[in-house]
Amino acid sequence: MPDACDAIVVGSGPNGLAAAITLARAGCSVLVCEANATIGGGARSAGLTLPGFVHDVCSAVHPLAAGSPFFKTLPLERFGLEWIQPEIALAHPLDDGSAACLYKDVDFTAEQLSRDSRSYRRLMQPLAHNWEELVVEFLQPMLHLPRHPVTLMRFGIPAISPATLLAKFLFRDESARALFAGIAAHSFLPLEAPVSSAFALVLGLAGHAVGWPIPRGGSQQISNALVAYLSELGGNIEVNRRIENLRDLPKSRAILLDISVWEFLRIAGQQLPSRYRRQLESFRHAPGIFKIDYALSSPIPWKAEACRHAGTIHLGGGIDEIAAAERDVSRGRMPERPFVLVAQQSLFDETRAPRGQHTLWAYCHVPFNCGMDMSNQIESQIERFAPGFRDCVLARHKMGPVDLARANPNLTGGDISDGAANLAQLIARPILSPTPYRTPLPGVYLCSASTPPGGGVHGMCGYHAASAALRDRLSTRER
Ligand SMILES: Cc1cc2nc3c(=O)[nH]c(=O)nc-3n(C[C@H](O)[C@H](O)[C@H](O)COP(=O)(O)OP(=O)(O)OC[C@H]3O[C@@H](n4cnc5c(N)ncnc54)[C@H](O)[C@@H]3O)c2cc1C
Repeated sequence: MPDACDAIVVGSGPNGLAAAITLARAGCSVLVCEANATIGGGARSAGLTLPGFVHDVCSAVHPLAAGSPFFKTLPLERFGLEWIQPEIALAHPLDDGSAACLYKDVDFTAEQLSRDSRSYRRLMQPLAHNWEELVVEFLQPMLHLPRHPVTLMRFGIPAISPATLLAKFLFRDESARALFAGIAAHSFLPLEAPVSSAFALVLGLAGHAVGWPIPRGGSQQISNALVAYLSELGGNIEVNRRIENLRDLPKSRAILLDISVWEFLRIAGQQLPSRYRRQLESFRHAPGIFKIDYALSSPIPWKAEACRHAGTIHLGGGIDEIAAAERDVSRGRMPERPFVLVAQQSLFDETRAPRGQHTLWAYCHVPFNCGMDMSNQIESQIERFAPGFRDCVLARHKMGPVDLARANPNLTGGDISDGAANLAQLIARPILSPTPYRTPLPGVYLCSASTPPGGGVHGMCGYHAASAALRDRLSTRER
């Protein structure tokens, strides 16, 4: 470890790497300290099951990375990142053997929703048209002067609505309602909660604007490309270096922490002023997840043909069933039929599995820190829409909340969002400020998904935090 550098970044997740690149691009010397033996945090891949199978340990599908205004400015393709667009972004099967689908094209998606095509087009078309303006607005702290107030208002009114209310008001058929509810469930909020629609709108619009792509070779390729670019800029990374106390770090002018609020409290709580510490202590977790990675002998025998051509599948039946499952989870109860998110990367990327064989990535939402093994419930949901699925399973790798937290200190209790994304915590993440990245400790900034705009692989938390640090203390004028 060097004796001193301009900035130290703790954690090599997408936000830590984005922060390090922003600083290195501004001419700062940067060191990244990562607790794990491998870099990438929530964007990693590994051989979790059998030889020849490559699994995404955390993130798998990347509308937010492909649409990230910051990532777009980086030469990641030069460092090997290649996006693959599955034929269909998302399929949502129903019990009658049909499936509602999200396609890249708004019109085509709308046409498949028969009686709801006009409503779908009316909701999504104008917003999709203004995606570039919108994405800049919502991928930053909520407390800001909007550059595109009219577009933002057009988005904000439906976005603030509970998903069940909006879907039932706009759509008449189960297909469109279920499709909307499934995407909204990415929020981890009960679907009756305000702003649950925002997630359906953002992810749905991203599907129309940039697709729901997967990286060839696995999510690790995103991190590898970020690291390769950081190295070209002169940045350094040290792995197997868990920071237990900020005082252990070498001298620097700024410290950027790609760690959750709870990890920050653990390693620096005693140094924080009591008012700020209390604010962080009142920050609330999202529910957790239970994840299974499968090695399969063949593609999944989905009943609905569309599911055989989709990168992502949402399993949960109709809107009322999904809403009930998410409500249970938020109340600390385990639903018998959980909402399950599935990705089948190897259908579109031959590097993920031996020829003819396949990977499957699946998880369901569970109460925070729940210790239950959810394999049966997950597999029953897959079997419901793909009878014979269990016969294809060669091997499984399971991770519950405890395993996730052991693998990455940011994932306490299995919360993969670094804090609930409810209305209060979207506005004050983790505190109410136009620059919530600053902490009361001089030169110390939070840059993880516990800051705006929150969870997902997009690097925007890191970019905004590093920009704040550059404005405060690292600008080239000072150097
Ligand atoms: C199972 C799962 C599935 C997901 N699916 C998707 C998806 O499909 N698409 C999507 O966009 N997002 C997905 N996400 C969310 C996404 O991965 C995260 O929101 C994103 O990685 C957050 O980035 P980050 O940089 O803030 O933190 P992280 O990616 O969590 O990185 C933080 C890093 O900091 C390190 N660290 C923590 N504490 C310390 C310490 N004290 N000292 C040193 N290092 C430390 C950790 O080891 C880790 O490497 C998923 C997450 C999980 C877990």
